[in-house]
Amino acid sequence: MPLQFYNTLTRKKEKFSPINQGEVRVYTCGPTVYDYAHIGNLRAYVFADILERTLKYAGYEVKRVMNITDIGHLSSDADSGEDKMTKGLLREGKELTLPNMRELAEFYAEKFKDDLRALNVEIPKNIYYASDYVKEDVELVKKLEEKGYTYKTGDGIYFDTSKMPDYGILWGAARNREESKSRIAENSEKKNPEDFALWKFNSELGFKSPWGRGFPGWHIECSAMGMKFLGEQFDIHTGGIDLIPTHHTNEIAQSECATDKKPFVKFWLHSEFVDTGSEKMSKSKGNFLKLESLANKNISPLTYRFWLLMANYHTKMNFVWEALEGAETALKRLYGLYLGLGSEIGNIHGEYRNKFKEYLEDDLDTPRALALLWDVAKDENMSAADKKATILDFDKVLGLGFENLKEEEIPEKIKKLAEEREDARKTKNFKKSDDLRKEVNSLGYEIEDSTLGYKINKI
Ligand code: AMP
Ligand code: ZN
Repeated sequence: MPLQFYNTLTRKKEKFSPINQGEVRVYTCGPTVYDYAHIGNLRAYVFADILERTLKYAGYEVKRVMNITDIGHLSSDADSGEDKMTKGLLREGKELTLPNMRELAEFYAEKFKDDLRALNVEIPKNIYYASDYVKEDVELVKKLEEKGYTYKTGDGIYFDTSKMPDYGILWGAARNREESKSRIAENSEKKNPEDFALWKFNSELGFKSPWGRGFPGWHIECSAMGMKFLGEQFDIHTGGIDLIPTHHTNEIAQSECATDKKPFVKFWLHSEFVDTGSEKMSKSKGNFLKLESLANKNISPLTYRFWLLMANYHTKMNFVWEALEGAETALKRLYGLYLGLGSEIGNIHGEYRNKFKEYLEDDLDTPRALALLWDVAKDENMSAADKKATILDFDKVLGLGFENLKEEEIPEKIKKLAEEREDARKTKNFKKSDDLRKEVNSLGYEIEDSTLGYKINKI
């Protein structure tokens, strides 16, 4: 089966092939760094990581670029409300200056990278701060101005969506135009409700431009950086589903109008949300779940990754603590099975590998890939060494950290108690056997019985 992804642009699963043979160029919308990332945000990056790893597993070179939004993102996607970075500075009692804004951004960008490392997400080599590329934003806006796509209002330079007949193709605007309009706050000076800011004036704080001091629009940043580092046309663009109707729709509009309708991106891939129900999960509302909040409840970052992979990236996930606890137990069980395989590494099982590749290449079907991982771990017809090789191979994509697992030394005392318990069990002294099992548990270990004998695990 060929490599295929669901493309938001065409609303169907399509066979994927890159524009340049052998090399895939991917742009990922990065975080707005005015606060810590919440666990919902992190899903978007675990998803992009699985995509990159799958492409590499399929034999492609991957050039991935990610931006850090450190300027220009307002609290509403529709160019109104407070600037998020300003909000961050005010919250932390810092003076509103560009250097302070950058300092704040760098602090939270580093925290974000720490989260990615903990989640075993390969951090793209090409991560760029939007504030370093304002010149490129200005150039792009100038191009649009020359081509007649812009107009000026009291608060900025706007893109005139009525000049682009197929505006909103990603959003399905033909169908949803009314819905789209109703979502966007009215700004009386805008010619059309969907028109969006390319440059916002700010006489006190901001960057110089031909139109006056201010900030680039959030959307223009991603077009300018995508084009600078990946070219006017590239293969894949990723982000969460909330970016479809405005941010990505507007990226397409301004990029394609600036390049005389060259299709900007071939495949648009979007990951669904993590819904926390009663637990708040919006950075702008404060009080949200971070990776650290999970660690405080003994849920490791890799368990969170494992839990995310249990669902397809198109499926909305409901965060409930019990589900995460279940995932923690399941992952530990997998680790235990792996650690029981000894130190020898054999050969990757060809049939399993083919299936694994097939599942992932079918629009990143991680739930099926995980089910296959369990099949391998439990396959009684495979040698331990071959299982180990196959699991390590799968983990190149899954990234669950098998490679770094180390067998924990079981203390002699525990081993002795377990031996005594085994003897008691064999001689049908069940009372003694049960007492010894409890004693082992009280010391932080458990005895797991199987057809092959028993195994001691740390609880
Ligand atoms: P932001 O830092 O707000 O620019 O968002 C970073 C990424 O997180 C974007 O790709 C969003 O689409 C995504 N995102 C935001 N909220 C959630 C959520 N609750 N669940 C999953 N992804 C989200
Ligand atoms: Zn973006």
